[in-house]
Amino acid sequence: MNRLEALLAELDDDQKLAVMHGEGPLLVVAGAGSGKTRVLTYRIAALLARGLAQPHEILAVTFTNKAAREMAERVESLVGGSLRGGFVGTFHRFALKLLRNHAREAELPERFAIADEDEQRQILDRVMKRLEIPSTRLTPRAARSRISAAKNALLGPKELESRARGDAERLVAELYAAYQDELRSAAAVDFDDMLLGAVSLLEHHDALRKSLVSRFRWLLVDEYQDTNLAQARLVRLLGGKTPNLTAVGDEDQSIYRWRGAEVENILHFEAAYPTAHVVTLGRNYRSAEPILRAAAAVIERNSRRRPKKLSSEVGSGAPVTVYLAADEADEARFVADEIGRLRGSVSPGEIAVLFRVNAQSRPFEAEMVRRALPYVVVGGTRFWERKEVRDALAYLRLLVAPDDVLAFRRAIHVPARGIGQVAMEHLERAAATWGVPVPEAARRLPVELSPRARLAVGEFNTLLGELRALAADAPAAEVVRRLLDRSGLAAQYGSEDEDDRARRANLDQLVAAAAEATERDLDLSGFLDEVALLTDADVRREGDAVQLSTLHAAKGLEFAAVFLVGMEDGLLPLRREGNGEADEEEERRLAYVGMTRAQRRLFLTFARVRRVNGQLLSGRPSPFLLDVPRELVDDRTAAAGRDPFRSHAPQPHRHGARSPADFREEHSGPRSTDHGPRSSSRHPDGWRPGLKIRHATFGSGVILQVQGTGAQTRLVIFFDRAGRKTLIPSLAKLERA
Ligand code: ATP
Ligand code: MG
Repeated sequence: MNRLEALLAELDDDQKLAVMHGEGPLLVVAGAGSGKTRVLTYRIAALLARGLAQPHEILAVTFTNKAAREMAERVESLVGGSLRGGFVGTFHRFALKLLRNHAREAELPERFAIADEDEQRQILDRVMKRLEIPSTRLTPRAARSRISAAKNALLGPKELESRARGDAERLVAELYAAYQDELRSAAAVDFDDMLLGAVSLLEHHDALRKSLVSRFRWLLVDEYQDTNLAQARLVRLLGGKTPNLTAVGDEDQSIYRWRGAEVENILHFEAAYPTAHVVTLGRNYRSAEPILRAAAAVIERNSRRRPKKLSSEVGSGAPVTVYLAADEADEARFVADEIGRLRGSVSPGEIAVLFRVNAQSRPFEAEMVRRALPYVVVGGTRFWERKEVRDALAYLRLLVAPDDVLAFRRAIHVPARGIGQVAMEHLERAAATWGVPVPEAARRLPVELSPRARLAVGEFNTLLGELRALAADAPAAEVVRRLLDRSGLAAQYGSEDEDDRARRANLDQLVAAAAEATERDLDLSGFLDEVALLTDADVRREGDAVQLSTLHAAKGLEFAAVFLVGMEDGLLPLRREGNGEADEEEERRLAYVGMTRAQRRLFLTFARVRRVNGQLLSGRPSPFLLDVPRELVDDRTAAAGRDPFRSHAPQPHRHGARSPADFREEHSGPRSTDHGPRSSSRHPDGWRPGLKIRHATFGSGVILQVQGTGAQTRLVIFFDRAGRKTLIPSLAKLERA
């Protein structure tokens, strides 16, 4: 069998049609688990095997870095080597690469910085103060999302202004213009600017666009239903007159409207590309029959979709397990119990707990910690948002781009070197007078600085100079290590206190991440770009661990067992405060995405009472849960000695009068933890790992570790809501729960 035959042998007839399609636009639209991503990767391999494409002519894009990495791996294993010169990655990565390579044409400074979320908000704060816009009229958060929406819809400040109706909209437009100016003067772009910048670059530089069109002859886009206008436009520009574009997607899985996704892009694909060939796939290779039928019953109620039928190739399987928990702690216990049971046959990495909002992960984390189950919280950006990590990154950015104003404003203050507001104002003013960036003004040491500030700024400059010299030829990890040492960043966290230890561990991880980057042939600036491109769908380190993830971040992935938790009206579908209406169809698609991640086992759970962000909600079951046909369900509530799911009257009962503790009393009896302390050594005061406690501010938690005795006693506690803390029990007023 030759290579092409071998590829085709692993596909069904419809998939083959798509894989073997020749030139011209192709749309593959089909339900979850039908092999769309498989078609896309096999198509790349087939184009190469048939000699229709060269590796460097392939441009394949998808949504998350994780999905992109998986795609690249699949292609490499099919092709038997890397796609030399081709591109497999996210839209943002492609756009950034383009802008870095053509910064001048894009009218960007050569080493432009990428402002992260925090910096974007700071810039908005500054601008709003300058324009005297009170945050009662518009919060920086709201402003940021309005500006982001405009960018994703390809609207610049002027366009937004000309469309503005009413004062509120004009205000956003004004703010947008000022925000852009401020970003520009800091030599920075934000995340959305990458796409916008790439589009505008190609629109204004015909020769460049033409060279890219002829270079990347084959375009392939996965998850097309979640493209926004900017992405669709970018694809259009890269396609040229006769696009060899393969778009793959499922309108039922469009879940990024809040980030500007336009489901119309896929629904109207044939209008945009009239010569498009359309292939639909009808077989599901992922999920057992009951899971597939349950998911279909949920999604069928949406109106804006093409009806489709999926048959299960996997065949029959266990029914969908449903569990009504007393509260979120009970829900977490149930999930952990079931995971324990599954572990005999399923490895932890093949299990996912999926939820609607990040705040839901806490009780599950606590339960995983308590039982020593390996887990990872998807949302790897959190690590990069830690203060100590961001401080170090600010320095690193300054090594690569000495005039990175945003990084300078951060780094100069850590560790504290006595540069106060007055000194900063001198520097900012000097920069304005000389018409140079603030870091350059700092290098020139303006005379207005006090002698003490001069000394401090001078030392800061010297340190950066020294590290920059090192960075010129030492590997990234070495630079990070020296930075942490010489700057005093690490020394700030010298104590044996749990917090300091955690921070030191994070800094060590930063060194490790830099070392990994070096292994992948990235230099320091490549490493920093990679960090800037991370999104909340990325996992920092994988390994064999249960994935706790939002529904959004689980798109495209599959797991042997899935727990879709928090299936309550108000949570899924989510209704946010001050925004009573849920986008019911989009929320339904989210539920569908979650359910269809499951291969063999699907668990749907909901809680009668739940605290989310400190608010007590009393749950009616999600309407999506009620759409699941009863004959597909195995209801485990009764087995736990509680009202069975069927008789649970869907009564509106918001902000319940009863406290969750009441329910715990009633219900947690026989099932409550048999997972005692891991260390059996008893503390004289009775503190022991595993003990549940309550704290006036942090709420309920569990002791992880007991250090010292008597007045020296310290307890490391994991609080359900507040996370990990180290407390001195004699001061902290702890109660046993
Ligand atoms: P989603 O809509 O969730 O993105 P998808 O349509 O992209 O799903 P894939 O992830 O490509 O689906 O495929 C789902 C699973 O089915 C994968 O494990 C894939 O390897 C497997 N699969 C797809 N087609 C076949 C086939 N013809 N034979 C065997 N397995 C297949
Ligand atoms: Mg897919």
